[in-house]
Amino acid sequence: MPLDEYRRKRDFTKTPEPSGDRTPPNRTTGRGLRFCVQKHLATQLHYDLRLEHHGVLLSWAVPKGPSLDPSIKRLAMQVEDHPIAYGDFEGVIPEGYGAGVVMVWDTGIWTPEVDDIDAALAKGDLKFTLDGYKLKGSWVLVRTRGYGSREGAGRSWLLIKHRDEWAGDVDITTFAPLSVKSELDFPDILAADAPAVWHSGRAASSASLKRFAHLIDQATAIKTAREPATAPRRRAAARKTAAPDTAPQASRSRARSGKTRTAQGAKKR
Ligand code: MN
Repeated sequence: MPLDEYRRKRDFTKTPEPSGDRTPPNRTTGRGLRFCVQKHLATQLHYDLRLEHHGVLLSWAVPKGPSLDPSIKRLAMQVEDHPIAYGDFEGVIPEGYGAGVVMVWDTGIWTPEVDDIDAALAKGDLKFTLDGYKLKGSWVLVRTRGYGSREGAGRSWLLIKHRDEWAGDVDITTFAPLSVKSELDFPDILAADAPAVWHSGRAASSASLKRFAHLIDQATAIKTAREPATAPRRRAAARKTAAPDTAPQASRSRARSGKTRTAQGAKKR
């Protein structure tokens, strides 16, 4: 079972992450294979590249994130396969494995540049094309001879951009840092998520979320600004008007989420 490791690491009574129990939708309709990159603020900030293959998402954790510069090789540690539904997951993992905040940083379709994906993976050389909001063009994942601990042996790859019209020296992770799903940044995702688990004060005692004290402060400030502390009746009214208030902010941040032609033009240089 390809998702055994994924499930073993998680307690689905405590995490909002999908369990992957649902059968993935039939993808034979020619829409192509899904990919996503999730920006994950956990013990360390990293970017999780996920490629749909055989009903799961093959996954690599890229500590520094993808680079559009073909001369820059980015370490990509292969991690356990994730369920297809994980590709849409954005929110807070309050405790346990991967505790932190997850953002859908990019998403789209990937196309292998090889006939046999399994053979390419076995060989340790997978060339592919991405068609996302932020990442486009030709890329390669090349397996290296281990890295660091023995545990990492065989799981260590390099993610490299091929030279094409989508290559360039724009630092895409800082140029387009926001979610392509919500167009939000981490504090806003935390504020929008607002699980009882951190709002109720339980988070304060959770070691895993203490690391994000600053982020939680920012999220609390965002929530407070949206919901002025007035009489309970007034507060309900304020909540109803919250959506229009947030709309202009979302459009302002659109450029940074990378969902504009401006962003793509700048990338191409
Ligand atoms: Mn991760």
